[in-house]
Amino acid sequence: MTDDALTPDQIQQIRDRVAGLMPQVRADLEQLVRIPSVSASSFDQSQVARSAEAVAELLRREGLDVDIVVEGGRPAVIGHIDGPEGAPTVTLYAHHDVQPPGDDADWDSSPFEPTERDGRLYGRGAADDKAGVMAHVAALRAHAGNLPVGVTVFVEGEEEFGSASLPQILEKHGHRLSADAIVIADSGNWAIGEPALTTTLRGGVRAVVRVQTLDHSVHSGMYGGAAPDAVTALIRLLASLHDEDGNVAVKGLEEGTAAELDYDEARFREESGLLDGVDLIGTGSILTRLWNKPSITTIGMDVTSVDKASNTLAARAAAKVSMRLAPTQDPAAAFELLEQHLLEHAPWGSKVTVELEEHGSGFAAEADGPIYDEARASFADAWGTAPVDMGVGGSIPFISDFVARFPEAAIIVTGVEDPDTRAHGANESLHLGEFEKVCVAEAVLLARLGALRPAR
Ligand SMILES: [Zn+2]
Repeated sequence: MTDDALTPDQIQQIRDRVAGLMPQVRADLEQLVRIPSVSASSFDQSQVARSAEAVAELLRREGLDVDIVVEGGRPAVIGHIDGPEGAPTVTLYAHHDVQPPGDDADWDSSPFEPTERDGRLYGRGAADDKAGVMAHVAALRAHAGNLPVGVTVFVEGEEEFGSASLPQILEKHGHRLSADAIVIADSGNWAIGEPALTTTLRGGVRAVVRVQTLDHSVHSGMYGGAAPDAVTALIRLLASLHDEDGNVAVKGLEEGTAAELDYDEARFREESGLLDGVDLIGTGSILTRLWNKPSITTIGMDVTSVDKASNTLAARAAAKVSMRLAPTQDPAAAFELLEQHLLEHAPWGSKVTVELEEHGSGFAAEADGPIYDEARASFADAWGTAPVDMGVGGSIPFISDFVARFPEAAIIVTGVEDPDTRAHGANESLHLGEFEKVCVAEAVLLARLGALRPAR
């Protein structure tokens, strides 16, 4: 690839254009937020259809060829516009559905009436992810009539509901989404004034472990002291999953190291609500523990409840265990290691079975090469400071679908959120100053990618 780099003047022109566009971009964002497009089944799905139509109309106005596609789930919007001959192609992802608003009483203003307070726009979807949709629209508007790259916009309608029909959408329409670069605007930045690319996400495994010690439950006075009960055996088994420091004790799992970013114990305690005097678990930097090392949590148990307890040795007990995995870890292999650990640590010869419920891959971007270089440069152009590489401890399950479907594409995970966004919570909000920078970065990115040509 060769790079006809943009001049500082050209970059300043894009900044100025985006600044001029922001009032209308914001007005359009507010219109989207007013549509309560909650994709969860118990909500009115005609609103999701309305929001798909509104997004389709925004893209049509920018000259894209637009279809609303439904493949057994919620409506997604796919729009395309050709770039100059030989220019790279870029696919821009966001989602137009939102999480349920929760209890209205927890909101300081109505969730579907966008409201500005202190430089932030409050509303469900004001950030996640209708601002992602509008960042794409803003980038298109910044280049109206003179788009430097071919652009496909893909706006999903059920990201908050598990992206269940995404595999079918990719199967049926994936050829339209293939591109040199895929920009997924559904994450966020490290802090106000500090941009980030999200380069890793953890994978996950959920499994059910069952323990049996007796043929049937028996009287604890008659048999206790010589026969083990299944609940105690299960608890000892679960306890074997961590070492004394709270590190995961399952052998053979991968682990990595997070970039060194400013994040101290006090902030973690504040954000997590960890009680005074309760230790952090695990070793390594806190971000390494959250983003790059495995974790194991017991998320449910089938045991007799305290209310219904009697003096009985329980014959059976079960627990559901959730593992988070290092970004590069193969989840099927991780499940096998977990299963092997649990079988090997069965206390007192108890009968242990382990059943895989669900697993999903993490994500580790190949965050270098010419396209990533341009992405980093675009963020630096917008913020005046280079982006950091950020991880996310959770998963964005659909990203692995994109990686599998488009192995050749550079996948760039960006977003509009900041640490105060409260996506999915009450009082979700968008920082309007940062949002403009997000729009600038994306508009500059399209220009920079347009200047990249395959080497002759
Ligand atoms: Zn989202």
